[in-house]
Amino acid sequence: MSDSLPSLRELLATAVEAVGGAERPGQVEMAEAVHSSIRTGDHLAVQAGTGTGKSLAYLVPAIRHAVANGKSVVISTATIALQRQLVDRDLPRLAKALTKSLKRTPTFAILKGRRNYLCLHRLDGPQEEPDDQVLFDPFAVSRLGREVGRLRDWASDTEVGDRDELVPGVSEQAWRQVSVSARECLGVSRCPIGTDCFAEKARAEAGKSDVVVTNHALLAIDALGTAQVLPEHDVVIIDEAHDLVDRVTSVATGELSATAIAIAARRSGKLVTDEVADRLVEAGEGLAMLLSEAPAGRLDDLPEPVAVTLQAIRDAAHGCVTSIGPDRKEDPEASTARKLALSALEEVHDTAVRILDAFGSEDAKLRDVVWVSGDINAAGPRPVTLRVAPLGVAGLLRERLFGENTTVLTSATLTLGGTFDALAKQWGLPGKQRVGVKAEGTATDKEPSDDIRWTGMDVGSPFDHPRSGILYTARHLPPPGRDGLPPAYLEELRELVTAAGGRTLGLFSSMRAAKQATAELRDKVDVDILCQGDDSTALLVKKFAENPQTCLFGTLSLWQGVDVPGPSLTLVVMDRIPFPRPDDPLASARQRAVESRGGNGFLTVAATHAALLLAQGAGRLLRSMDDKGVVAVLDPRLATARYGGFLRASLPPFWPTTDPEVVRAALRRLAAAS
Ligand code: SF4
Repeated sequence: MSDSLPSLRELLATAVEAVGGAERPGQVEMAEAVHSSIRTGDHLAVQAGTGTGKSLAYLVPAIRHAVANGKSVVISTATIALQRQLVDRDLPRLAKALTKSLKRTPTFAILKGRRNYLCLHRLDGPQEEPDDQVLFDPFAVSRLGREVGRLRDWASDTEVGDRDELVPGVSEQAWRQVSVSARECLGVSRCPIGTDCFAEKARAEAGKSDVVVTNHALLAIDALGTAQVLPEHDVVIIDEAHDLVDRVTSVATGELSATAIAIAARRSGKLVTDEVADRLVEAGEGLAMLLSEAPAGRLDDLPEPVAVTLQAIRDAAHGCVTSIGPDRKEDPEASTARKLALSALEEVHDTAVRILDAFGSEDAKLRDVVWVSGDINAAGPRPVTLRVAPLGVAGLLRERLFGENTTVLTSATLTLGGTFDALAKQWGLPGKQRVGVKAEGTATDKEPSDDIRWTGMDVGSPFDHPRSGILYTARHLPPPGRDGLPPAYLEELRELVTAAGGRTLGLFSSMRAAKQATAELRDKVDVDILCQGDDSTALLVKKFAENPQTCLFGTLSLWQGVDVPGPSLTLVVMDRIPFPRPDDPLASARQRAVESRGGNGFLTVAATHAALLLAQGAGRLLRSMDDKGVVAVLDPRLATARYGGFLRASLPPFWPTTDPEVVRAALRRLAAAS
């Protein structure tokens, strides 16, 4: 590719100068690799530690490519925080800095799934009755009413209608009253408010932008679906790529619950005869009864009564769909009601079919996993639900992502046990970074028949890990038990927190353990302990960052989402190696599938999962060049188990020790110095 634009190095230097930074070798190396990947069409996986300046390292070559070729580049992130950073900070500064060199101002836009935007047509139309769970709870009804009222006020102020701009947010139930899925949307040409539609405006804006920032979910919808939801593009850059597989799996997961069926029946109630609607209601009640007695967990076989009920649901939903009359285009209200009913019915029908198909053959069992879940979340118990998810997404990504675009994957954590192999396998890239040859196997056990060429590169980290951090493994403790944190763990934690004078991020493998540690330590240490769930996580992190004599204890979202540079965080404690729970339906099915092919299921699935989380958790410690501290893993298996070497090789190269006194002395020195 030759063009008249300044070279990548020149543009990068201009960009770095404009943001007030210094040239960093890792950043230059990464930018050149991204540039080369875009030019050659070979995919790239690039690990870049915190502090590399990786967003600039991919944005500059991306913008250069977009301006030179007149095509959009798609940047996908996992978290809203990174999306905001790109759109509110990095891209505006870059666009300004590069305008002179590129002889025009590069443009950018953010694009999310339709459900993320306020639907003005839905807001104007009649509100749906809340579902039964809410209906019988007067507090929930009045809260819902208040939230919808707030949304109406917000609708007249907002310019973009993006849910993430609404602070504080509203419940899912309220948001659903004012938004539509792609299936439920009337379509811009038929919608009476189509010209003012927020989702359509965002799409139009994205279509004419050089850089389109989106999330992994929309990227997955674009890859999974038949309709194109992202603008025309030939390059995709996936930041926070360590989360890609989980996000794509979530999008590809189907759910069937009695609540969803009741909503579908209610929506079709006025459009079909009572008899047709009642059949669906009865089938839904049958499912509710069966699920209320079913233990949570994976289904290896479909019990006969569940199969019969699913067939009844499938047929009843199909009956409703065929009974709903033709669209009355001249009446938008009727058209909307019909569209809402059809979308709910199709969802119910398609999921019932998918679950039935999952048990159709041995081959099918290797494609989809089905389980019963009835978990409890912050909003209370969720209705018992049948879920169906793909065993792996490697085939999908290989065909629909790598097969169609030049793709750059990046994150601070992409190598596990020192190589890209584990994640490459999950993404569907050939196991070895060999060029243009068949690979040796993938997560779905299907040999890639295409020529996928990719390079893995670790540009390192500007941090001096062995000098700035200690990896402490509490080798002397007993292995973790099943019944909460053993007393020895709590005593170890108390001693560490006391030595650090607070400044501790406690990453626990379960909410139960986080709460137990909080309750036990609050009486025994002189510092404040904040526990996830006491307030919004963002507020807790803010309090923790503002006051060094504070600890923050929590679970999964803290493992990946906390960015607290400076002396407020000098100790990261992990209570145990975060293996998936043995009853995790997807992980256990994936493990079994690897074993059925003669592989090591534990290493391939459980240890890989744990390594990724451990690396992410340890990555919370050093966030700026002056940071120093300790990562303490209380679980002695990190030092003693056979797989310990693989896990340790997945962590940054901190100075390792198993001596508690050395660690406590180091923490006391750090506390005294800050
Ligand atoms: S086009 Fe679709 S999303 Fe937009 S306002 Fe109309 S129905 Fe709502």
